Amino acid sequence: MALCFDYEKLGESIIDEGTICTVLEETKADDGAVREVLAKALELQGLDLADVPVLARITDPGLLAELFDAARKIKEAIYGQRLVLFAPLYISNLCDNDCLYCAFRARNTAVKRRALSQAEIAREVRCLTEEGHKRLLLVAGEAYPQEGFDYVLESVATVYATKGGPGEIRRLNVNIAPLGLEEFRRLKEAHIGTYQLFQETYHRETYREVHVAGRKSDYHWRLTAMDRAMEAGIDDVGIGVLFGLYDWPFEILALMQHIRHLEEYFGVGCHTISVPRLEPASGSYLSEHPPRPVSDLDFRKIVAILRLAVPYTGIIMSTRETPRMRRETFALGVSQISAGSCTNPGGYSVGEAAEDGQFSLGDHRPLEEVLRDVAEMGYIPSFCTACYRVGRTGRDFMDLARPGNIRKHCDPNAISTFMEYLLDFAGPETRRLGEQSIERALREMRNGLADRSRALLQRVLEGKRDVFC
Ligand code: SAM
Ligand code: SF4
Repeated sequence: MALCFDYEKLGESIIDEGTICTVLEETKADDGAVREVLAKALELQGLDLADVPVLARITDPGLLAELFDAARKIKEAIYGQRLVLFAPLYISNLCDNDCLYCAFRARNTAVKRRALSQAEIAREVRCLTEEGHKRLLLVAGEAYPQEGFDYVLESVATVYATKGGPGEIRRLNVNIAPLGLEEFRRLKEAHIGTYQLFQETYHRETYREVHVAGRKSDYHWRLTAMDRAMEAGIDDVGIGVLFGLYDWPFEILALMQHIRHLEEYFGVGCHTISVPRLEPASGSYLSEHPPRPVSDLDFRKIVAILRLAVPYTGIIMSTRETPRMRRETFALGVSQISAGSCTNPGGYSVGEAAEDGQFSLGDHRPLEEVLRDVAEMGYIPSFCTACYRVGRTGRDFMDLARPGNIRKHCDPNAISTFMEYLLDFAGPETRRLGEQSIERALREMRNGLADRSRALLQRVLEGKRDVFC
């Protein structure tokens, strides 16, 4: 289908609030309906819109346990035990917008404004690579310093060019303001991984109320950003909702509509979904008083329902959440986590000044501590960046993922990149624990995967780096 570039018209067609409200109001749910939906989800083909309210309304503890159990099975079948690690890299907190929930909003005078120089960015990257990170998410407020958009491109180049000891960044994802088509083309040429952008809320009226100034107050310009990004050749895009602004069942249905739209026009939906929950932020009354607070139980339901609804789409959990909540949601469907994060520009090299961060964090542990915890829980931390580097992106990635073939790559690559980390960066206790979990994972592997993994591991043990299949 040809894409319409009247962005307002296009935006109108992507999210149909009338349909969402009808589905939410008219769907009837009883125990039988829940079990039917769960059985369908276990076939790994995703859900229809009308299935979501059936699951969202579950309150019975027995049925909730069945929902979580289905999510665990799907997560295990598609993603196995691996968890991909990354860290955010905030390069600038300059911002022209006024999002009522964010510390970086233009009218908040309590935050010291800065855009890092290229030398400062390199210093931040060295801190992160020396810890062992291989994958970063570049984050910026929505205003540029005097170089304009070139500042972002230069920053991307700096990140890739910076080496620290045996470390290097192999995949840089970006979360920056929506761009025009030409700027997206330039971003693609800079070799970014995923372009990530959250709609925050898909509910138009709420969106208007919380985005009171600047370009971000244009709902449809933001909503259509992924169309421009994909049209410009960026295959992997990441969407998300800031949970706490509006009713979460509405937001899940809208996420599904957004994904359907991308599938229809580009043959593939989004690569990842992020699930930030509103956290307190300095100078923001709204962040301390979420209009529609999401309880811990509902948050676990959100992750589980998304896992059922879009089984092949990665789910990202950030350090906004506490270690306990992060642990609980790994099993329910999370496939990527940030670790050791700072949310203020310059935070890694000068230390996090809490009042200058974008919002408060729930998990302050350094990368190594998170890795130990994750490994003790039986997961394999992965620093793999193979797919994007060999062009297994967008539709090619999904074509491998759907028949279950992606695990042939992901599982061995997780093991080899984790071993790289253990050899190059870990302390003795982490290394001991890590090697034990690698051994356990190898024992549990089937279908020749253990042999494939051992072959990669051998090359890492011989001193080779960045090996993958
Ligand atoms: N400025 C760009 C934007 O708004 O999309 C990109 C970076 S912004 C710093 C990244 C995300 O942080 C936003 O999309 C929003 O969802 C999230 N965020 C902002 N304030 C938050 C808060 N108080 N709690 C949790 N997440 C927040
Ligand atoms: Fe600026 Fe993004 Fe914060 Fe909004 S969420 S104020 S656009 S940094």
